[in-house]
Amino acid sequence: MRTSDLGTFLQSALDQLDNPLAYLFAEGQRIHWLYLLVAGLVAVVVYAKTAPGKTSLRSFVRLAFPRSVYLSRSTFIDCGYFLVHRVLFSILCLPVLALLAPAIAEATGRTLGAGLPALEATVPSSPLWIGLFTVVAILVADFAGFLAHYLLHRFPVLWEFHKVHHSAQAMTPITVYRMHPVDDIGVVLLSGTGLAITLAVFQFVTIGEVGIVSVGATNIFAVLFNLFGANLRHTHLWFGYGPRLSQILVSPAMHQIHHSQKPHQHHSNMGFMFSFWDRLFGTQTIPREREEIVFGLDQGEDADYSSVLRLFWLPFAKIFRMKSGLRVLSGGLIGVALLALSVSSVVLIASSDSTPDLVALEMATE
Ligand SMILES: [Zn+2]
Ligand SMILES: [Zn+2]
Repeated sequence: MRTSDLGTFLQSALDQLDNPLAYLFAEGQRIHWLYLLVAGLVAVVVYAKTAPGKTSLRSFVRLAFPRSVYLSRSTFIDCGYFLVHRVLFSILCLPVLALLAPAIAEATGRTLGAGLPALEATVPSSPLWIGLFTVVAILVADFAGFLAHYLLHRFPVLWEFHKVHHSAQAMTPITVYRMHPVDDIGVVLLSGTGLAITLAVFQFVTIGEVGIVSVGATNIFAVLFNLFGANLRHTHLWFGYGPRLSQILVSPAMHQIHHSQKPHQHHSNMGFMFSFWDRLFGTQTIPREREEIVFGLDQGEDADYSSVLRLFWLPFAKIFRMKSGLRVLSGGLIGVALLALSVSSVVLIASSDSTPDLVALEMATE
């Protein structure tokens, strides 16, 4: 076991805590300064449309950054949780990204080689082909994210973990990181599997290299999504895309409906980028006009999530209090799986030649 590699990784994990502003400059991160700036400009448009009477910088700041939101307990918990979550996310998702995805890609390639050898290396790589791969990859990743989110809402045991995200009573762009590790792993597992299979299929039939149309290392569609004001979805600022475009894309207003305390609203609009998955699954809610949304969980349950630590252990506590033995067993198995992933991560790091970059690792799931 190479303890020096493990030491370097743990040190880089702790450095994350030292440098919480790193994500502002990390390419592909939702809270990159450029995406926040675009969200700020959209907020100006929202303000100009809704401000009554005379406009001023002071009233804009009061509308966009109210103290009741930015100095709330919910936002302070989000900030504290953000720091710890980044370290845990990387440690727990590392085995999935570094071991499972390549293994699935290899198995897919082998299966295609045995079953459909006539298709191997039949399509020459071209800009059109790479464009098609880019579109398919984003559709697969987005559907996998939707499916994981749908399952997190449908199964009571998984819903307990996902409630952590819905427990925010005030929303700021940093609320996007209020996700329990089980939630993150579910998304990474499904999107990693989907993308590994897609890449393997394209690699199998292509003559030459397969790549994505990207800005830096980020899929062009993910960049456009963030430039469409994605940061506003975790704010109180109402920004809809209109009834037509909302059939295709999830607007910030649609995601705010998803954060409503009302169960019939928070069990709808589970798409990330595209809203037609919700239409297919019967969970699409397109607002006709501006709605007053109260964020959080119903019946005052959001008050239970009152500290950073409680965000981590409360789902387990709630599952172990459930009446069904099967649900309690599922919660126990999920806990064991988290422990196994942590151990795998340590073994993986200790046995590899290089130390994984934590920020790059999280970017790989964007
Ligand atoms: Zn959200
Ligand atoms: Zn949700």
